[in-house]
Amino acid sequence: MDGPAGVGKSTVGQLVAKELGYRFINTGEMYRALTWKALERGLDLADEAAVLALAESLKWDFKAVDGGVALKTFVDGEGVSARIRDERVGANSSLVAANRGVRRFMCRLQRRLGRGGGIVMEGRDIATHVFPDADFKIYLDASIDERAARRYRQLKAAGVAADRQKIKEAILTRDLNDLKRKINPLAQAADALVIDSTRLNLHQVADRILKAVRAAHGG
Ligand code: C5P
Repeated sequence: MDGPAGVGKSTVGQLVAKELGYRFINTGEMYRALTWKALERGLDLADEAAVLALAESLKWDFKAVDGGVALKTFVDGEGVSARIRDERVGANSSLVAANRGVRRFMCRLQRRLGRGGGIVMEGRDIATHVFPDADFKIYLDASIDERAARRYRQLKAAGVAADRQKIKEAILTRDLNDLKRKINPLAQAADALVIDSTRLNLHQVADRILKAVRAAHGG
């Protein structure tokens, strides 16, 4: 499953994975985790060799926690999912994600995780590049205003102060970086089911996907 920032891929992906008895992987976590580590170490994110060397030096593990369907990212033994959500990491992650060596490295990790099947994986280039032969491909979209509103509600619910206009600008900038980068940009796979979720809630989106998946696989 691919799609732009803030479209609900993680929520929908987990609902679908749970229903199918699959695991779920959010590949954005991998780019965010590396970005967070690089910022923590004071690396220049534009130094592609240094950022790739950092990725290669870390120990990467993906484990389910608390009985959930999601495989969470662990770096050097530490679960990082909670601390990589902030906008500083998000904004910088699209720079790290434009690093050719880093993309190759992450793609290898992702292919290893998906090798045995039974996985819902979401990101920007999953159906176009990482798993071009996936059994089912989804591209999830929604208007920028709806995506900004969802992110705003999420942050408020988590007790984080948020500015609607700033959120919208941050999402637009990230989308642009992800769309225009040279290597494996955000794109719709030609054979993906495209769902515009602007006027749907995320349960409705998951139901639509499950129906389509079951129809495609004879049941
Ligand atoms: O999905 P999320 O918004 O957390 O991803 C953070 C960033 O990681 C994205 O803006 C994008 O630059 C990068 N990313 C990517 N390819 C993926 C997943 C995420 O380039 N498959």
